[in-house]
Amino acid sequence: MISNKIEKMNKEYDVIIAGGGLGGLTAANVLAKQGRKVLLAEQHFQLGGLATYFKRKQHIFDVALHGFPVGMKKTLRKYWSKEMSEHITQVKSIRFDNPQFSIDTTFTKEDFTDKLVTEFNLKREVVDAFYDELDNMNYYDDRLMTNRELFDKYFPGRNDVVRFLMEPITYANGSTLDEPAITYGIVFSNFMSKGVYTFNGGTDLMIDMMKCELSKNGVDIAMSSKVEKVLLDNRKVKGALINGCEIKAKAVLSNGNILSTIHEWTGDSAFSPEFLKKVKDLRLNNSSCQVYIGLKPGESFDYIGDLLFTSTYPTFDPAKLVAHDMTSKTFSIYYPEIRPGSKDYTVVASMNANYADWANYTDEEYKIAKQKMIDDTIIALDKYIPGIADKIDYTEAATPRTFQHYTLHGNGSSFGTKFKGLDVSMNLHNEVPGLFHAGSVGIIMSGWLGAANYGVIMANNVDKYISSS
Ligand SMILES: Cc1cc2nc3c(=O)[nH]c(=O)nc-3n(C[C@H](O)[C@H](O)[C@H](O)COP(=O)(O)OP(=O)(O)OC[C@H]3O[C@@H](n4cnc5c(N)ncnc54)[C@H](O)[C@@H]3O)c2cc1C
Repeated sequence: MISNKIEKMNKEYDVIIAGGGLGGLTAANVLAKQGRKVLLAEQHFQLGGLATYFKRKQHIFDVALHGFPVGMKKTLRKYWSKEMSEHITQVKSIRFDNPQFSIDTTFTKEDFTDKLVTEFNLKREVVDAFYDELDNMNYYDDRLMTNRELFDKYFPGRNDVVRFLMEPITYANGSTLDEPAITYGIVFSNFMSKGVYTFNGGTDLMIDMMKCELSKNGVDIAMSSKVEKVLLDNRKVKGALINGCEIKAKAVLSNGNILSTIHEWTGDSAFSPEFLKKVKDLRLNNSSCQVYIGLKPGESFDYIGDLLFTSTYPTFDPAKLVAHDMTSKTFSIYYPEIRPGSKDYTVVASMNANYADWANYTDEEYKIAKQKMIDDTIIALDKYIPGIADKIDYTEAATPRTFQHYTLHGNGSSFGTKFKGLDVSMNLHNEVPGLFHAGSVGIIMSGWLGAANYGVIMANNVDKYISSS
């Protein structure tokens, strides 16, 4: 059943999933297929979380469909359906354009290696040794080396090489040069197997297909239903308070922000002082801004690549990627082929951003800052699509405030928490039996693939817990 009214749902389930992002959705599907009675409660009127879309005029704008690793195909096939996995197609061309270099790549390991050798004049053995080190990194042993140290080891003094290797990953998960190299290594190795992929048909089709699959497998979905409290009995989960309604469950799996899950929904008194000390160390990751551009009906432009990492800043500096004076922009170009049968062209520009830069504007200042971001984006895009301004019939902007509003992530944090969040998230149920978490925590779990796979890991933990309780 799908309903906006929590009162229509049963009063008792095996598990309540709090949040319908890719982690929550996938966990719900896996648990339902394992025969569990599942309630998925999503506070928004739409599923998908950050992996979402919205419709304006004749346009559908994809928020987070720039690309993911090929592993998404297997994940969809195993945990969703073969039909869904067949929608995964490779992105043809990824372009870098900045004062240091201008390069097109398919983002496969072979092509990247060739570019590093031919365009950056590196020795093939050095590039291979770098890849070997990444391939052999493992989450449990390799937390000490920083990204900076990793790059200095193989490419000393080569800021241009670091930019080529790191800029897409910094966009994808907010990582900096001072974070553990493992946070880079795992994400880069994932992407570097066979290139970058997308979902043909768009995010709207994927979410619709997920909704059908969940219904088919018996998941009850409560939309516009906010989990306000996790209910405990003797420090053990007994259900949740959703829009003021008590629903019983043996387990609650939160797909919401890890800090809200602990401090707001459950309450600090349920956790040990040692655990809370670890929680205190957690930092929310940074956020994003986006500009959405739709073309007038009948307008078009030639193929210019699918994903363009552009910057006017002279060197690579992660701090500049989040700075308010945006010198770096990633353009995702959506040609009509993404939605077979459509004639619509859209462009989504993404910039990393700090919440603090946007938080304190008055309404009027906020409106002006958003319009400036839109205008600057159109000027930057004109270099790649000359005359674009005359072809546009719709623009809109999102900021960290927008992301906070729609997902309830503190500070609009679009990649959850930094690295240390993963430990806290994975150990929640050791503190409060029956309480689990899956979502964008720790840089490693960022992105569609990471979030969906983390949902699977936690669904299996929930299943084991329910069996033993
Ligand atoms: C601008 C941008 C672009 C991106 N591009 C890409 C990309 O190209 N490729 C890629 O792989 N990844 C991309 N990502 C990252 C990716 O989208 C996310 O990592 C992933 O979707 C997060 O999934 P999640 O399971 O953590 O859930 P989230 O998406 O964080 O969803 C959490 C859900 O929980 C709900 N919720 C919160 N609190 C409550 C509550 N109290 N009660 C009920 N529900 C609640 C929210 O409404 C939301 O639906 C992008 C992210 C952003 C912001």
